[in-house]
Amino acid sequence: MKTINETVDVVIAGGGTAGHIAAIQAGRLGVKTSVIEAGTMLGGTMTAGGVYMPNHFFNTKGAVVQGIPWELYAKSKQIEGLPVPDHRKRRPMETPGYYSYINVPIYAALAEEEALKADVVLHYHEFIAEIQAVGDWWEIISFGRGVKRVTKAKEIIDCSGDSDAVRILGLKVLKSKVSQPGTLQYKIEGIEHEQIWKEEVQKIYEEAMESGILQKGDWAYPNLEPFQYYLAHGGHNATHIYDADTSDADGQTRANIEGKERMLRIFKFVRESIPGCERATLKMMAPYALARETYHTLGEYMIEGEDFLKATDFEDKVCNAFNYIDMHSQETGCEVQFLESEDLLPKVPFRALIPKDSRRITVAGRNVSASRVAFAGIRAQCTCMAMGQAMGAAAALAVQRGVASREIDSRDIVAVTVEHGAVPV
Ligand SMILES: Cc1cc2nc3c(=O)[nH]c(=O)nc-3n(C[C@H](O)[C@H](O)[C@H](O)COP(=O)(O)OP(=O)(O)OC[C@H]3O[C@@H](n4cnc5c(N)ncnc54)[C@H](O)[C@@H]3O)c2cc1C
Repeated sequence: MKTINETVDVVIAGGGTAGHIAAIQAGRLGVKTSVIEAGTMLGGTMTAGGVYMPNHFFNTKGAVVQGIPWELYAKSKQIEGLPVPDHRKRRPMETPGYYSYINVPIYAALAEEEALKADVVLHYHEFIAEIQAVGDWWEIISFGRGVKRVTKAKEIIDCSGDSDAVRILGLKVLKSKVSQPGTLQYKIEGIEHEQIWKEEVQKIYEEAMESGILQKGDWAYPNLEPFQYYLAHGGHNATHIYDADTSDADGQTRANIEGKERMLRIFKFVRESIPGCERATLKMMAPYALARETYHTLGEYMIEGEDFLKATDFEDKVCNAFNYIDMHSQETGCEVQFLESEDLLPKVPFRALIPKDSRRITVAGRNVSASRVAFAGIRAQCTCMAMGQAMGAAAALAVQRGVASREIDSRDIVAVTVEHGAVPV
């Protein structure tokens, strides 16, 4: 194995939903930035994970997240040859938000192109394994096939989704006893929807549940929708894996295996038992199962459910966090709670992105310091990306001013992100 030494200003731990935006923002501000990404592409859950639905760029009142995330989204639509959808026309379901969809290959390639244009150094297939402080620098050790990399950096942004860098450093994290179930993304095509008879389908599904052909969780939302919904969406995002904890390789392996077992079981049931599904085929499967929730970082502030639901106007807010509470559980399936008024626009405070008692490290995305309820709203992709842009700006400002990121005034962070297209908060 060869050892490679590298020196940068900012290391992004994980180039996923939050990480790719953090990297582009820091790179565009002229600080030397590298991404260490365990997977094969930028975007994480929203690309490789197969959750290609970033919520919410808009609410009914207007734009809530723009900046680099919206720029990439709009550019990807242009490459697809599709118009950027009009946010005033909503999906016909009860939601005050706005759903968007990305084309995964186009978006992942575009994100990479923009990162490289911003002089970001990309290291795929590498895991961060060790981190230590050496004077005013971090020394980050990552391993890939045949490579041990020792990176010196001034700032780290932990965008790993599971607070990996924070945990490696022994900083405080939070983990609920019961976390939201995970999902393996796949898509069934070839269903002849005109042959589907809603009432009959529901009866066949209920009988299969009773006889044990199907298991609880194979269809995740029986409390919200009839089984026809599963067919209408080709099974996408519609299966639960209970206790999915992808924060280490063993947990990831277990979740991957259970996800595929569930997928095969329900696919066989659909094809063999439901009239109109005889020609159904499994067309897409994400390479790995996803957890909705593992280790959150304990930050200098923990966002509470009330903060989210009442949209606390934090003095150190850095971005919007518009969403509904989207709570998945083994007991009920999925429960959704909308904000009381469409005028409410929740925020993320800078302190929730600074690990408690730390210096020169911030977090973005799923790692955010939030209670279980608040987290069920904040974890949406547009908010994760907006946090990434804010922390990319914070790290760059810190390097330029020769201070630690936690010393940067949140208003300066917002001013920089607004210069780069973000919505003022
Ligand atoms: C099943 C499911 C459905 C969802 N549905 C929606 C939806 O419809 N709309 C929506 O807006 N949101 C949805 N969400 C929420 C949203 O997708 C996630 O909360 C968000 O994408 C998390 O972003 P992140 O940047 O924190 O993590 P990720 O996007 O998962 O990125 C983390 C990255 O870090 C890398 N990594 C981890 N550890 C290391 C390490 N040690 N070294 C190097 N790299 C590492 C990973 O490979 C990954 O690429 C859903 C989530 C799930 C799981």
